[in-house]
Amino acid sequence: MKRFGFADKAVGYLNEAGIEVKLFEGVEPDPSVETVMKGAAFMREFEPDLIISMGGGSPIDAAKAMWVFYEYPETTFEEIITPFSFPELRQKAKFIAIPSTSGTATEVTAFSVITDYSTGVKYPLADFNITPDIAIVDPDLAQTMPKTLTAHTGMDALTHAIEAYVSTLNSPFTDPLALKAIYMVFDYLPDSYNGDKNAREQMHYAQCLAGQAFSNALLGIVHSMAHKTGAAFSTGHIPHGCANAIYLPYVIKYNAKCAEGRYADIARSVGIEGSDSECVEKLCEKINEYNIKLNIPITLKDFGINEAEFKEKVSKIAELAVGDACTGSNPRPITPAEMEKLLTCTYYGTEVDF
Ligand code: FE
Repeated sequence: MKRFGFADKAVGYLNEAGIEVKLFEGVEPDPSVETVMKGAAFMREFEPDLIISMGGGSPIDAAKAMWVFYEYPETTFEEIITPFSFPELRQKAKFIAIPSTSGTATEVTAFSVITDYSTGVKYPLADFNITPDIAIVDPDLAQTMPKTLTAHTGMDALTHAIEAYVSTLNSPFTDPLALKAIYMVFDYLPDSYNGDKNAREQMHYAQCLAGQAFSNALLGIVHSMAHKTGAAFSTGHIPHGCANAIYLPYVIKYNAKCAEGRYADIARSVGIEGSDSECVEKLCEKINEYNIKLNIPITLKDFGINEAEFKEKVSKIAELAVGDACTGSNPRPITPAEMEKLLTCTYYGTEVDF
């Protein structure tokens, strides 16, 4: 944001309006509890009336959490881990978010993901209090995304929309947003990946629509699996959107037993024809085709996860994934044993037939 001049531009506008500004910079990817507490202390010193977060999902998520500890210094991180338990915000400041990546849609959601590195656990914080007051969705910022990030964040957005559409909490208010987002991602993601300016712009809007859908309808087990495998292996991080892209077709096949009609709706909205079960099959094929086009592997094995390590850890990961906050709204219930089987399918690329 500094290098491309966006930060200076924003500060310039604020100064022109006679607003005093202080910058807090250098939030790391997958922001830590320590960074959140540092930022909150910085805010307590400056006492802003307005918090403006600009950048990718990480700085915006971190700023949302800083906001809580700015307004409530006595609150502990442990106290806000429980979803929808936050104290009433906006006592000291309002919040603006300006995203530079096209995926998380954190600028319109009630979520923030903060990592506790002492335990290696990623916490999805959730509360409508941290939904920003204003989102500035300026496509110019998204033009700066590197190619791989464009692919991963784009598939994250597709996953948000698909999971929201089949979620047990779907509603007539979230369905149109989800379907439009899905249509736009299929339409624009490959060109956006290849650097087309208009496609980048459309993806920036599509991910925001998906965000409005899932902030209200919530998600499902693709996200549960991505959260609990993202930092689980010694071979390195699986980027969030990349993990979602790998798991999505397998989860669709698992969930289809309970939500076939809903997936068929999605398939038909993007021009796929046939019976419900044919539609689901072709939708999964389409997602795999996109993964190939976007250089995303279609199994965990192809991603480079070590087989022995996978086998050793899969049962613990399965248990944690079932306990993830996103599992509750998944259309089909899942046991730890089924989750282990499903994860094993995503490792070897075997058929999901249970
Ligand atoms: Fe996501």
